[in-house]
Amino acid sequence: MREKYALNKNTKKLHIVGKCRFTSKEKKDDNMIYFLTEDDAIAYGKRYMANCKLCFGNRDFER
Ligand SMILES: [Zn+2]
Repeated sequence: MREKYALNKNTKKLHIVGKCRFTSKEKKDDNMIYFLTEDDAIAYGKRYMANCKLCFGNRDFER
């Protein structure tokens, strides 16, 4: 699938698809809302959303 980001409707956590065990590139999860870009996810989630530490925790080291 093309979507790269997934917001869990229950936990309000934003994941990068395929990066941690909570998301899969092959199969969509009914508990997730999918987005093509991080900006789209932020525009939707705004204040109540939090980044998954497994997906975003090491981001600074990847730059
Ligand atoms: Zn994650």
